[in-house]
Amino acid sequence: MDVMLRLSGVSHAYVGPAGALLAVDGLNLDVATGEFVSLVGPSGCGKTTILNLMAGLIRPSRGRVEIAGEAVTGPDPRIGYMLQQDYLFPWRNIRDNALIGFEIAGERSPEAERRIDRLLAEFGLAGTARRYPHELSGGMRQRAALVRTLAREPEVLLLDEPFSSLDLLIRLQLEDLVWETVRRRGVTAVLVTHDLEEAAAMSDRVVILEASPGRIRSVLDVPASIRTRLPSEARWDPDFGPLFQRLRSLIREPEGGNAGHAG
Ligand code: ADP
Ligand code: MG
Repeated sequence: MDVMLRLSGVSHAYVGPAGALLAVDGLNLDVATGEFVSLVGPSGCGKTTILNLMAGLIRPSRGRVEIAGEAVTGPDPRIGYMLQQDYLFPWRNIRDNALIGFEIAGERSPEAERRIDRLLAEFGLAGTARRYPHELSGGMRQRAALVRTLAREPEVLLLDEPFSSLDLLIRLQLEDLVWETVRRRGVTAVLVTHDLEEAAAMSDRVVILEASPGRIRSVLDVPASIRTRLPSEARWDPDFGPLFQRLRSLIREPEGGNAGHAG
């Protein structure tokens, strides 16, 4: 297996006036190149912290984070990070929002602009390039944020509950769009979601975390019949129901595990 992301013995504690809070505890996780992994677990179990560690936004208190065999020591252009909120700048139109990564890198050019225009068209946003974020629906804004995240062709895409504020139908469309985009480009993806169905429909593997501090409770491999289909179609696969039930029972198991307990 060609490892794109590796967390070895990673712990992270937040230190504040009230003392230290252990958010992630001795995490070991490999994500293969081109793999799609979801992280699920109760609120506060350390999912966002894990993504921030992968993104190099925070340094682990202990252990090591690697991308393609090299230590992650800070933000890395190979990593794209998309959040629940779109964080588009209200005073910039959609095209200029999407171009911001190039601008920050001092690489805005006619070629970069052409690439953005192609991506906007691919994501159904060609007609909105000159419009402002407040003129767009939530789903369109998330698509624009996705274009911005993908603009500089990251090899790794980190997604922190990117669909959770959207209506169900829009969410299903965006799941398909992200899934197709990631597969077509061979991008490695780590998705945090509280939606178990979404995790099962989109991923190759689902990592289930314990309540705080973040530790891996179990890892579920998604069968090929589901992995290889669009999320919206995978939900109709006969294997999907059993997979979802299995995932639900793993989440519900009491601390310490109880494999015999069915959900
Ligand atoms: P999740 O994304 O799974 O909801 P987080 O990674 O955001 O969990 O948080 C894990 C734990 O760390 C929680 O107890 C949270 O309150 C705490 N935490 C998160 N960010 C900070 C921070 N910047 N300072 C102090 N504590 C934090
Ligand atoms: Mg979070």
